[in-house]
Amino acid sequence: MENNRRKFLKSLAGLSGLAASAVPNLATARATSGATVRDIRLSKNSGYLRLVFDLDGIAEHSIFTLHGPERVVLDLKKVKMPHGMVDQVQANALIRSIRSGVRNDNDLRVVFDLSKSVTPRSFLLAPSGKSGHRLVIDLHDNKRPSARTIKLNKRDVVIAIDAGHGGRDPGAIGRSGTYEKTVTLQIAKRLEKHINKQKGMKAILVRKNDRFMRLRERIHKARDNHADLMISLHADSFPDPRARGSSIYALSVNGASSETARLLAEKENAVDLLFGDVNLAVDDQMVKEVLFDLSLTGTIESSLDIGSEILGQIKSVSRVHKKKVQQAGFAVLKAPNIPSVLLETAFISNPREEKNLRSATYQIKLAKAITRGVGKYFARKAPPGTWLASSDGEYSVDSGDNLKTIADNYQVNEKDLRARNALYADNLMAGQVLKIPVS
Ligand SMILES: [Zn+2]
Repeated sequence: MENNRRKFLKSLAGLSGLAASAVPNLATARATSGATVRDIRLSKNSGYLRLVFDLDGIAEHSIFTLHGPERVVLDLKKVKMPHGMVDQVQANALIRSIRSGVRNDNDLRVVFDLSKSVTPRSFLLAPSGKSGHRLVIDLHDNKRPSARTIKLNKRDVVIAIDAGHGGRDPGAIGRSGTYEKTVTLQIAKRLEKHINKQKGMKAILVRKNDRFMRLRERIHKARDNHADLMISLHADSFPDPRARGSSIYALSVNGASSETARLLAEKENAVDLLFGDVNLAVDDQMVKEVLFDLSLTGTIESSLDIGSEILGQIKSVSRVHKKKVQQAGFAVLKAPNIPSVLLETAFISNPREEKNLRSATYQIKLAKAITRGVGKYFARKAPPGTWLASSDGEYSVDSGDNLKTIADNYQVNEKDLRARNALYADNLMAGQVLKIPVS
């Protein structure tokens, strides 16, 4: 028994807050003018409370919520309810009291005063067997964040953006003289900006300006910032100027650990062996080194997963050179650390793509696509303790729902709801399960 359960207000006197209304009176009810509530039944179910209004006819109804304090308001057109009917509903932890009153002479309003926020669902059932007309109201738990959830400061997912090359290492050079190091830094900065606009994500730039950085230094920078993901940005080059499109690299687990050890020992030579079966831009020593090193530290499955999400988004802004995330066959010995992907944004050796790479429009499109891909991955698989990994329950989308009404029902920010679920378009599908963001 819970001592703190409140008793219902049993009288109709408590109608304050409603439009002035007369007390319903059975004596004046005209059977022909509508329906009458014959009974109210209540049942508790997992995640929701069900109220069934037994009616002796069809009734038009509408239902909505009010906040501060939490209320659900049910309006029934041309419906009468005997005095004291609401008293039949047993006290429970959710419903503090029920009030009812007459509106517009013939209509009935029932107000449920609640102890917490709910999402109401309602539907009518036609007579069947012994049952007559029924109006079913389900009050679904909104699983409001507990005090504890609010207190815990959920951290952002950290994304290290590594602009390839820099300083005395220009990287590949386009036919019009564009340096790879320049465009990778420009794209990196745009990507940083877009990622930082996303709730739950924080970007850091490995290289902020035109300076030379060794691979070691880059990885240390990512680690020092506790990066959850490292994205290395490059631009491909190939002798044939027709080569074009974006590609993404991750590493695969493949091979024996003893061989790994051997390859580690012969790192410089090993690089070529390792990627012998992959069509890498062979001139980019840094790409080889990044891939080689990340292969030892990255979580391969995560890297592949992130890579596919990014690739999926990039398809909408750029031609994709290789339809799948490229994997270098390689055996991983060390414990996984930072999942990493290497993005060859486009071919700087292709005059058209070189022009693209220099264009602000293209750079922004690309940055947005990468952000969406990263967001989609982390909405599913953010590390524990991050805002993106947290939720205050799930909501299964009904047809007719939209983001605003769902956000309102749960009293969360629509932007947060979008970010938590990586929703970049407005369309929702019935049955789609949304995570409810924490505060
Ligand atoms: Zn490069």
